[in-house]
Amino acid sequence: MERVHLDHAASTPVDERVLEAMQGWWRENYANPSSSHAAGVAASEALDEARRRVAWATGAQPDRIVFTSGATEANNLAVLGHARARKGNGRHVLVGPLDHPSSRAPALSLVEEGYEVEELQLDSNGALDLAHAEDRVRSDTILVTQMFANNEFGCIFPISELARIVRRQAPHAAIHVDSVQALGKIEIDVESLGVDSIAISGHKINGPKGAGALIRANDAVIQPIVQGGGQESGLRAGTQDVPAICGLGLAAKLAESEREHAAAHMGELLRVMKEAIADRRLGRVIEPGAPSQSLLPNILSFIVDGPPAEVFLHHLDARGVAASAGSACQSSKKSMNPALFAIELDEEEARRVLRLSIGKGTTLEEVQRGLELLDEVQNELARHA
Ligand code: PMP
Repeated sequence: MERVHLDHAASTPVDERVLEAMQGWWRENYANPSSSHAAGVAASEALDEARRRVAWATGAQPDRIVFTSGATEANNLAVLGHARARKGNGRHVLVGPLDHPSSRAPALSLVEEGYEVEELQLDSNGALDLAHAEDRVRSDTILVTQMFANNEFGCIFPISELARIVRRQAPHAAIHVDSVQALGKIEIDVESLGVDSIAISGHKINGPKGAGALIRANDAVIQPIVQGGGQESGLRAGTQDVPAICGLGLAAKLAESEREHAAAHMGELLRVMKEAIADRRLGRVIEPGAPSQSLLPNILSFIVDGPPAEVFLHHLDARGVAASAGSACQSSKKSMNPALFAIELDEEEARRVLRLSIGKGTTLEEVQRGLELLDEVQNELARHA
């Protein structure tokens, strides 16, 4: 059975060129990059090259890249590290309304350390409510974390506008931006965005899993969460995973150098998908945040006609199609995804939200086959309803 992967927001295949670039760092040179012998120096130089590549892709300085085990660790380091380093200036933290658990959970854990943690809000279209942000940012706010682009609906948040508000009202605040879903889809320039740090992940950009980075825009102090041998400028101890980091470096370089072409390709496929969903009467596309915020070219969510999305996923999986439920498990209005709540879906509709996400290697045939099988599943479920 040929599998159709319509779940690239969850993970992407490793690019052949990336895989090739990683091989030698397992086979031929497996030295510790902290060793002073020739092999160690070569491994350390490979890390430097990866640093230059990630820096080039994100508009940062190479010496401000901190390699981590993925974006989860990068978000944890940013949230805890910025907040703890600033506790002398205040204890107020603001968290984006749709932020990933890897930013939300560490932020919420700060409550036990005496911090006050509040959430930013969405307006009635599901866009970031900047007036509310303006109202909540205070002089003792020391951290604002807000994702760049959302992994469930693809909405792109107005980071520069938010940063301007924060800079005006909170002189001691660090601004951290989870840019996992944005890299390779939209331009990222960490310095001109006006933020302090961003997080990226290898496996969302056709690179390896278990590799990511915290990218700093300045030399502001961050308190490390993993301490030990002083690697990564003392911000992340532990022997670096040289093959994974080399893979991440090349994946980031390719993601940015091929971005415009890839975004146009994915945007065109997404248009075809939207049309097919309407033509085949599969359901209703939802675009939280639009039209005031733009959307990523590779993520599409819709309310499928029929039983809950989980049922569709199960039947699609049996036919070789991998997709995802936009927001599974909303058992009550209280636990409903804030974006779906903002655009006034009821709980029953929220349970029918399916997410299809594509990558730069996705083909028109794959998309057509996926939608055909979705149509087939829908008809079958309707017959048995
Ligand atoms: N942030 C976002 C927006 C994500 O989509 C993900 C991956 N689901 C992460 C953070 C975590 O990244 P990683 O898998 O590299 O830990």
